[in-house]
Amino acid sequence: MKFQDLNIITPILKALSEEGYTEPTPIQEKAIPVILQHDDLLGCAQTGTGKTAAFAIPLLQLIYNKKPAHHIQCLILTPTRELAIQIGESFAAYGRHLPIKHLVIYGGVSQHPQTKSLDNGIEILIATPGRLLDLMQQGHVSLKHIEYFVLDEADRMLDMGFINDVRRVVTKLPNKRQTLFFSATMPMEIADLAKNILQHPKYVEVTPVSSTVQAIDQQLYYVDKEEKRNFLTTLLSESHIQSAIIFTRTKHGADRVSKHLNKAGIKSEAIHGDKSQNQRQNALSKFKAGEARVLVATDIAARGIDIENLSHVINFDLPNVPETYVHRIGRTGRAGATGSAISFCDYEELGCLKDIEKLIGKKIKFMNSANSLTQKDKKAEPKENTKKDFRHKKKTNYSKR
Ligand code: AMP
Repeated sequence: MKFQDLNIITPILKALSEEGYTEPTPIQEKAIPVILQHDDLLGCAQTGTGKTAAFAIPLLQLIYNKKPAHHIQCLILTPTRELAIQIGESFAAYGRHLPIKHLVIYGGVSQHPQTKSLDNGIEILIATPGRLLDLMQQGHVSLKHIEYFVLDEADRMLDMGFINDVRRVVTKLPNKRQTLFFSATMPMEIADLAKNILQHPKYVEVTPVSSTVQAIDQQLYYVDKEEKRNFLTTLLSESHIQSAIIFTRTKHGADRVSKHLNKAGIKSEAIHGDKSQNQRQNALSKFKAGEARVLVATDIAARGIDIENLSHVINFDLPNVPETYVHRIGRTGRAGATGSAISFCDYEELGCLKDIEKLIGKKIKFMNSANSLTQKDKKAEPKENTKKDFRHKKKTNYSKR
């Protein structure tokens, strides 16, 4: 199927071709016609499937056809600043030949430029819940003309504790509107919220979590906890990995890994919740520009970061929640590209590994132990007591997986 077959107007088709998109992704193929028919939509899709364009393209078209009105006709609510910025970039790209203005608002930065842009009149507002409520309370934002409402990453809103803020925003929306609801998973609370805010929605689902990862080359190394940093350095020094996002479980861990790599001459930047918005954007820009070879991130900070052509994801720590593994590695191999995911697993993480393999329905390819890869590197040899540690936990004999 081609974008032309979806009845998309010429200025948007032109922008899509300039973006290098040749054909719609499955979610786009399914969602665009539904949205153009003015139906509500419940979309079960995760980041990396092309879901932003799946709603941005038809919304731009609907607003253009109705005539842009210089007041807020469309609200997109998304959990993180990074996602908000990324969605804003998508609207800018696909709408570059249309006279439609959008604005991205989020907290942690001065509100002045945001309120100034609001005063100038915009049609599309992309917001995180906190800053939106704040500006609504101050009278800078009115939602009374909203015709299109998108709730993006609803399950993440719940995880991050924003669900009541979302409910408060919804109460201020006109009843007559078109609502698009996206969530990667459907926990009970999210399913209830969807039921309350959608009217006769069409349901669109793309490849369930477990199968989206099949195309990604996944590798596993067993590494003792205290050897992980040295092993990572060796891996990055000896391999052809050009750029990678490295995931750690904690903010502190991200900083430590980043420092260690920089000391070893591997340029890296860390992003996590304790860094200011500017620091995060700087780190991301450096990584995107190739000035930093690796980006070390926690899950929350990395959520919504869109980096094209990412070849590698490294799980320095395995996540406790198996779906997080899928989200992480989904950052490589986006929109059909191939990618690799390398995971380190220490003794304490064997349970997490089991859960992950259950979710993805296969064993991750076992490469070799850290010892054989790093044997040249004296520092990376496991300490005697660690070896013993593994031996007495004989049930976990790695070679007998
Ligand atoms: P998303 O799921 O919205 O985060 O999109 C994932 C990535 O796929 C983004 O980098 C988009 O620019 C890219 N993308 C979206 N739609 C297409 C398409 N039809 N063809 C190629 N790339 C796309």
